[in-house]
Amino acid sequence: MIDDDLPQEPQTLAERKMRFLFALRSRGVTDSRVLTAMERVDRGLFVKGLFAERAYEDMPLPIACGQTISQPSVVGLMTQSLNVQPRDTVLEVGTGSGYQAAILSQLARRVYTVDRFKRLVREAGDLFRDMGMVNITPMVADGSFGLPDQAPFDRIIVTAAAEDPPGPLLAQLKIGGIMVLPVGQSDTVQSLIKVTRSETGFDYEELRPVRFVPLVEGLGGE
Ligand code: SAH
Repeated sequence: MIDDDLPQEPQTLAERKMRFLFALRSRGVTDSRVLTAMERVDRGLFVKGLFAERAYEDMPLPIACGQTISQPSVVGLMTQSLNVQPRDTVLEVGTGSGYQAAILSQLARRVYTVDRFKRLVREAGDLFRDMGMVNITPMVADGSFGLPDQAPFDRIIVTAAAEDPPGPLLAQLKIGGIMVLPVGQSDTVQSLIKVTRSETGFDYEELRPVRFVPLVEGLGGE
């Protein structure tokens, strides 16, 4: 067990990365494919400026446009619940830093990721290119409408909270497909929900309480 609250000796980068993986495991991220993906994708590349040195701590951190990169254990648990298969086409709503999309790119055939802020999409796109992640397509769009031209999707992950699962996203999920998203009033505790589409409808499973920035209508200014 790791106690993150104890004051720690200065650590080398390798030690910090090792503790990062231990912390993920101790918080319930146990799927070996997800852990391998999270070991490969360096969170340090997605956090810029003052907060970069905290990239290997299990906490959300500020990024540009007033948004946040999610807490790594939450990224791990959401990815694990999504149960991504190698041939899947995945839609992510809320590119943010691009970290979650980069992890999905290790597990899926193709990842579409959308954000309402041009700047976030551009910066994440530069990182994907530099890292050779050619199976990610970042796009500027209001993700509440999904991507009708690219639909349907095997998996959909939403990393901003809506009051209800957006109808267009439900409609763009394949039969047998899975969507994971936080649902609830913005700025309070939301519930992480797993939606599975069957031949006859949708099954809903409540996973855990979470806290995400809100899903906002329309495109952002920057
Ligand atoms: N998955 C990100 C964290 C996302 S933070 C990461 O790994 O870093 C949530 C993101 O959702 C923000 O960047 C915000 O701009 C975006 N967002 C909020 N409402 C949106 C909408 N309607 N359409 C697309 N993106 C939206």
